[in-house]
Amino acid sequence: MPTFYDRSAALVTLGCKVNQSESEALGRRLSERGLRLVPFDSSADLYVINTCTVTATADRKSRQLIRRARRHNPSSLVIVTGCYASVHRSHLHSMAQADLVVSNDSKGRLADLALEALGRATRTASGVAAPADVGAAPHGHTRAFVKAQDGCADFCAYCIVPYARGRPTSVPAQEIVSRIRSLASQGCQEVVLSGVHLGSYGADQDHSSPDLYDLRRLIVEILRDTAIPRLRLSSLEPQDISPGLFELWRDPRLCRHLHLPLQSGCNRTLARMRRRYTCQDFASLVEEARRAIPGVSITTDLIAGFPGESPEDFLESLAFIEGVRFARAHVFPYSPRPGTLAAGLPDQVPEPVKRERCARLRAVSQQSAAAFRRGFLGQTLEVLWEERAVGNRWSGLANNYLRVSAESALSLTNRITPTLITALEGEGLKGSVLA
Ligand code: SF4
Repeated sequence: MPTFYDRSAALVTLGCKVNQSESEALGRRLSERGLRLVPFDSSADLYVINTCTVTATADRKSRQLIRRARRHNPSSLVIVTGCYASVHRSHLHSMAQADLVVSNDSKGRLADLALEALGRATRTASGVAAPADVGAAPHGHTRAFVKAQDGCADFCAYCIVPYARGRPTSVPAQEIVSRIRSLASQGCQEVVLSGVHLGSYGADQDHSSPDLYDLRRLIVEILRDTAIPRLRLSSLEPQDISPGLFELWRDPRLCRHLHLPLQSGCNRTLARMRRRYTCQDFASLVEEARRAIPGVSITTDLIAGFPGESPEDFLESLAFIEGVRFARAHVFPYSPRPGTLAAGLPDQVPEPVKRERCARLRAVSQQSAAAFRRGFLGQTLEVLWEERAVGNRWSGLANNYLRVSAESALSLTNRITPTLITALEGEGLKGSVLA
């Protein structure tokens, strides 16, 4: 098996946490085979662009990154993968900037394909040095994304993901547990359990089997069988949350953060989007979460200007969203994805109207986010410190996903410390390390 100790690779990832977990796994495999991982903006022998196609902006960024890679090193090997690569394969071929296009269903073989192609491209390479970071956990051992699930069969009217990622599949629980055990033994402090439709974990199993898993059982086993200090969940679809799931948060290792994509606060729009809950269901869920998980941060995704969203629908949605008081909202203008149901719906909303609605949604969300942050002034949060920003200034993530900075002469990388919150700072908080 050839090794590539004199070669470098740069990976860049757009989109969801599943893409991030897949890039981390790929980085690990390339690094095990001797490739040196370098920042994307440097000159590398291999570039992998793990793309996203969830919006028109994601498409544009994917194309820009491909062109950027080619500019950084015109003789490099450029591989494009991810959802943009799966859905717009022919466009990528016509762009002629990528050497290899690997769709999501072949992503598991990407490291082998890359090494094979790199071997062909660099047959004259010589010189072997010892690998510096074989088997290293990503992010300097601090946080890692572990993929538990892929694919979706919900076919929400606006969403391209079921076409880009295919049917739901779950990673066997024992594989996930052993991966997390290994990360914990390498010093990783936080695992983000990721899935395209994480709440449907286990739905693809043989239902006649006596040994069925769902998300609840998976979480219970991770907490029981690993020593990972923190476990965070990626996005959960509101309809997937089973009664009593929030009781699991009695274990303080589960991060007090829930990302629940609402998309619209108007029942008529939700129905047209083919979402499987109503605003009332969502409000009850939020109430239950806040009761069961004190201090929980509830974040969301919102779409402005879905086809047929009338001014009244929008105002109803805005009022509902204001009432929920999200800790953060990602607001997107509706962007038609060719091939989806919504792209062919009548009453498409003009772009300037979408922009104006986005601005109003962002204003409301920014207010509730600031109020949420203010609620922690004078309180102590557990912060996982990631890196020294400048001088003695450190940056880290609180258990509830708020970014915190602090001054400290101590070496805090990869430590979780109680931190007294003293001020608001940008979209985060400022604190004073207590230990
Ligand atoms: S649940 Fe809906 S929005 Fe989420 S990935 Fe599936 S189709 Fe897309």
